Amino acid sequence: MAMRSKVNFKCPECSQNVEADQWSAINGDKNPQQKFKLLDGSLFKIKCKNCGHVSTVGYPLVYHDTKQNYMIWLVYDEEEIKHVSDYFRQSKNGSADDDEEPVDAECRQRIVRSPDELREKIMIFDSGLDDKIIEIMKLAYAKETQRILKDDNVAAAFFSNRDGEKRIELYTEKGKAFVSGASKKIYDELDDKYGGKASYAEDRVYVIDDVWALNLLRSMR
Ligand SMILES: [Zn+2]
Repeated sequence: MAMRSKVNFKCPECSQNVEADQWSAINGDKNPQQKFKLLDGSLFKIKCKNCGHVSTVGYPLVYHDTKQNYMIWLVYDEEEIKHVSDYFRQSKNGSADDDEEPVDAECRQRIVRSPDELREKIMIFDSGLDDKIIEIMKLAYAKETQRILKDDNVAAAFFSNRDGEKRIELYTEKGKAFVSGASKKIYDELDDKYGGKASYAEDRVYVIDDVWALNLLRSMR
C-alpha cells in the first residue's frame, strides 16, 4: 500500500514551481528506500531544482510494518486525530469500509504529530521495545538531568537507535543536548513496575507520549 503522488510546490526562495513526490502510505517491509528516507529526514525535504533551496514540508502519512505488526499515523491537528482514532477503533471491529485492508487484532496502532515522533516510534518498535515503557523512561532520565541544570529546562526527549546503539537524547530550552545510553536494566525495572498497568490503555489510547506517561504516573500515586 505504498502510495505516491506528485505535488506542485512553490519555492519560498525563488518562487519557482517544484514538482515533488509525496507519500501518503509507506510499508516498512515493501518500501525500504522510503523507510530509510523517513528515518534520515529527507522524505520531508524538498530541494528546489532552480536555486537549490531546501524546504521542510509536513504532510500526513500512514506508516505500516506488517512483519512487526504495527501501524503509525502521522497527522497534524486534533480533528485528524479524532478521524484516525475512529478508523483505528472500527478497523479492529471489522466494521471498516470494505476497501480498507483488514487490521489484525494484535496490531499496535499509534498516532503521532510530527515527523520526529514518527521516526522515534519506528526506532522503538523496530528495537523490539514497548513505547509506553520508553515514555516513562524518558521522564525518569529528564528528571535526573533536570537536577543538574541551572537556569535551564529539559524541553524535549527522544529515544534513538543508531546502528544498534540505543539512546535517550535530551534537549534543553537553551539548546544543550544530553545523550546517554538507554539502560536495559532501567528499562526492565520500569517494565516490571509499570508493564501491567501501562497495557491498560492498549485498546483505547493511540497517542502515547509524555502527557500519556505523566497521566499514568499521576494515576498511580
Ligand atoms: Zn528555488
